[in-house]
Amino acid sequence: MSLKPEEISSIIKQQIENYGAAVKTDDVGYVLQSGDGIARIHGLQSCMSGELLQFYNGVFGMVLNLEEDNVGCVVLGDDREIKEGSAVKRTGKTVQVPVGQALIGRVVDPLGKPLDGKGDIATDNYRPVDFTAPGVIDRKGVNKPLQTGIMALDALIPIGRGQRELIIGDRQTGKTAIAIDTIINQNGKDVICVYVAIGQKASTVSGIVNTLEKFGAMEYTIVVSSTASDTASVQYLAPYSGCAMAEDFMYRYHKDVLIIYDDLSKHAVAYRAMSLLLKRPPGREAYPGDVFYLHSRLLERAAKLSDELGGGSITALPIIETLAGDVSAYIPTNVISITDGQIYLESELFFSGQRPAVNVGLSVSRVGGSAQIKAMRKIAGPLRINLAQFRELEAFAQFGSDLDKVTRDKLLQGERLVETLKQPLYSTLPVEEQVVILYAATNKYLMDIPVSKVRKFNSEYVQFVKEKYPKILAGISETGDISDEIMQSLKSSADEFKAQFV
Ligand code: ATP
Ligand code: MG
Repeated sequence: MSLKPEEISSIIKQQIENYGAAVKTDDVGYVLQSGDGIARIHGLQSCMSGELLQFYNGVFGMVLNLEEDNVGCVVLGDDREIKEGSAVKRTGKTVQVPVGQALIGRVVDPLGKPLDGKGDIATDNYRPVDFTAPGVIDRKGVNKPLQTGIMALDALIPIGRGQRELIIGDRQTGKTAIAIDTIINQNGKDVICVYVAIGQKASTVSGIVNTLEKFGAMEYTIVVSSTASDTASVQYLAPYSGCAMAEDFMYRYHKDVLIIYDDLSKHAVAYRAMSLLLKRPPGREAYPGDVFYLHSRLLERAAKLSDELGGGSITALPIIETLAGDVSAYIPTNVISITDGQIYLESELFFSGQRPAVNVGLSVSRVGGSAQIKAMRKIAGPLRINLAQFRELEAFAQFGSDLDKVTRDKLLQGERLVETLKQPLYSTLPVEEQVVILYAATNKYLMDIPVSKVRKFNSEYVQFVKEKYPKILAGISETGDISDEIMQSLKSSADEFKAQFV
């Protein structure tokens, strides 16, 4: 068979016309330099900031620096195989993580890969790790409490759903303990929890997972783990990817979510390492200039959504570790100014046996009473003043010997209140029981009880109310308030119990 020249030319024309559609082109560059978890790449002119790149061996990288003739990227994984001159492909996507119900109960790394050996995560939903925080119109005032189950917090430093409350203190002062207790206390309260471990020891993280499992808390919790052996870039990514997982529950399922960042000091250090390796100029304490934005854009993503958007909230509890109680260092002051209050833990209190070691004077919650149920607001009113007066008198009573009766009473009362607020690990209390205990404490039922017996009195009193006056607890938990009738029975229950307590 012979083809006529005009037929051949028409076939060639057709082929040329379809050439573009048939051939898929990838944007490929090559590595100029690699090391310390950083790679510089030439030839990716149209690359986006934050874009995911794929190296020839399947390892991913994230673009952070866009420069004139090259891009700087962090390697999210093992960078030993990446050599000078090897090929790198654009993916056209920014970094994403899997999200959705399938993640609940799982321990994952910051890229959403399972670390718990329970198999693949079956989800088709992905979310970008970096996402713009909701604006002013999309938000609503915080008005619903998030009960931590810790009396010193729920009574004095209440946390609301959608709030950002910083937990700050030196090393080993019980920061993580407060966060874990709060997660455990969300059992049956329809709150999804996300615990993000940043740069911690792998053994610490596995200990936390075990504790959560033991208390049945993994049924509503996701753990995002980046350990100290992970590269700085993976640690940097951890809180953002945890937040993306939380956001999915807020935006799509309109749930209340609690997220814990443990801790942001290590996050800042990881970011500093990354920035210095990327040759960004160092500023104060060698942190880069945008370290404030690093945390503000993360914490602003915690929100209470408006009713138009279907409600739902993310409550964030970031943790910051201070050195020798110095809250005026760079990172602590930054995060203090971003959050809606702080829980300040002191090692002095911790070692003197007051645990949780909350310094009530320096801790605040800027959301305040609107994050408390009415019953708690009524009872806890005098508590803060009494404790403040006690602290003032305590220091100066050490010198004087003969004190007048009013002062002595204030000291006695203060000691008993401080004792009442002590709470061991993993023994969170429902809010109605806290109200009952604080009723007796603030109404001076403890004045003639020796300090060493105060906690026994409190726990037996709650037991007594549970058995003899169940209506009190039921009434408070149903209405959230103390009616005159309940107030009356609280008084008679306390009188009755006091008479029989020996
Ligand atoms: P790190 O700086 O190492 O992260 P941290 O501030 O997170 O420490 P935790 O690990 O929470 O502190 O607690 C330190 C120790 O104090 C733990 O051994 C814990 O068991 C103990 N602890 C914390 N809170 C209490 C408490 N309320 N009652 C008794 N022990 C407590
Ligand atoms: Mg800790």
